[in-house]
Amino acid sequence: ATGTPGNPNAKSAIPGIKKIIAVASGKGGVGKSTVATNLAVALSKTGAKVGLCDCDLYGPSTGQMFGTNQQPMANENDEIIPIEAHGIKLMSMSFLLEENSPVIVRGPLATRYTQQFLRQVAWGELDYLILDLPPGTGDIQLTIVQTVALDGAVIVTTPQEVALIDARKAVSMFAKVNVDILGVVENMAWFECEHGTKYHIFGDGGGVREAERLKVPLLGQIPLDAHTRACADGGTPVALLPEAESPVSAAFKETAEK
Ligand code: ADP
Repeated sequence: ATGTPGNPNAKSAIPGIKKIIAVASGKGGVGKSTVATNLAVALSKTGAKVGLCDCDLYGPSTGQMFGTNQQPMANENDEIIPIEAHGIKLMSMSFLLEENSPVIVRGPLATRYTQQFLRQVAWGELDYLILDLPPGTGDIQLTIVQTVALDGAVIVTTPQEVALIDARKAVSMFAKVNVDILGVVENMAWFECEHGTKYHIFGDGGGVREAERLKVPLLGQIPLDAHTRACADGGTPVALLPEAESPVSAAFKETAEK
């Protein structure tokens, strides 16, 4: 609600954006960007106008996952015009760099980029702006919570204890800055073989128990799925598929509805 015009707290809102939602994880590699990407697509499939801001400056993956590496232009107000792919407005460090070049910036510059991504991008009218946060609880996360009023955070974790430990730290960070946890997405929850047997490769139900412990909704359980990985690498997020063709697409639809 903080993003709606007329709200007394609107000083930190982004004009034109109704809800700003962070997708966060404690640990890297748990599928945070995959979840952010597919959640953005699933929300857009409900008819919402959606933007995705890749705040993971040091490990941007939005360009790859959406199959675009266009360079954004500026408008007459010196704002960056976001790149549009699969109906989603996108901003990512990967659009500003040569392919494969590392981002070598110190904290203060990372802070400036983050502020710019949020404040100096012509996002326009959006129902949702999804922020793909870097893993952990560092400079960039702090800059974000100080720059915009977040409507909530979605925590992504695998069922594995090391991921859960770090997820708890992310949750505590949001609690300290009074950002609501909207719920937990358990990614890589299991692998189902062609005979229908489920293997709990990273442990069984860790995300489910964590959601219960935090007293927040479990927003989804996403299986480990080769097709999901291939879609991410190929630039067409799996949630674009009709739900009947992909259990993962169906799972993201359910998550978006929650
Ligand atoms: P993070 O943003 O947490 O670092 P990514 O979303 O980049 O994680 O995912 C890490 C890797 O795992 C990527 O190669 C991605 O395609 C793959 N991946 C993520 N979720 C799944 C899944 N449910 N099934 C298969 N591969 C996945």
